[in-house]
Amino acid sequence: MAEETQFGFSRVPLAGKQARVDAVFHKVASRYDLMNDLMSGGLHRIWKDIFISRVKPSRKTRFRHLDVAGGTGDIAFRVAKAGSPLTEVVVLDINAAMLDEGRRRARVAERGFAAAFDFVEANAEELPFADDSFDAYTIAFGIRNVPRIDKALAEAHRVLRRGGKFLCLEFSNVNVPILDRLYEAYSFRVIPLIGRLVAGDEKPYRYLVESIARFPDAESFCGNIAGAGFERASFTRLSGGIVAIHSGWKL
Ligand code: SAM
Repeated sequence: MAEETQFGFSRVPLAGKQARVDAVFHKVASRYDLMNDLMSGGLHRIWKDIFISRVKPSRKTRFRHLDVAGGTGDIAFRVAKAGSPLTEVVVLDINAAMLDEGRRRARVAERGFAAAFDFVEANAEELPFADDSFDAYTIAFGIRNVPRIDKALAEAHRVLRRGGKFLCLEFSNVNVPILDRLYEAYSFRVIPLIGRLVAGDEKPYRYLVESIARFPDAESFCGNIAGAGFERASFTRLSGGIVAIHSGWKL
């Protein structure tokens, strides 16, 4: 029997998940940034700022940064802002529509940045880069969409140089009583409704909520990161566990 995986709450053949995920992000690409602001009440900007404060690009030597599932460039632009003319940021995404939005935003944004950008269409499970070629790897709100998470983690480990840092920002498990109930109600009732009213389609937003509920809890995911070979794997919960930052080092 064909291997299966989760697509939100549904079981789908492993080989078919990526095409479904791609269809979701193709549909939402042009409204992605607006919807992020609406659904998180602007909180995603704060989470991303905290996340990027952990990258600390060197300003004295060449710093190569890879942002996987980089979509419309939110993380890449923050790294560029923290960096210098010696910073090179590669934004990688499997979805051409999301990358087009990122390129469009970079043309507006790059005037203020000294860092160099490159946009690459590829799969997190098969990175088209040499071993040991990046100083840092980030993935924000991306890993839960990847069908073979362990393969993506192994690739992250492969392309980082020794001493390189892995950082992941992802929705996680709320572990604060009452907040967990409120969050669940908000996720399953309000988010699909915002999707219907603003984007005219609730299906992609229902997938979003279901995929969050299905993603492993922070402790288990930390185990996956250590299992991929990263040292000092750890995590920090933000906003009561709505999201978590996981990190590890290739040593
Ligand atoms: N990182 C951005 C942010 O924080 O705003 C975008 C996150 S968006 C929720 C998820 C992104 O993951 C989409 O752009 C999607 O195309 C991308 N994605 C899904 N599966 C992928 C894969 N296998 N490899 C690379 N990118 C993937």
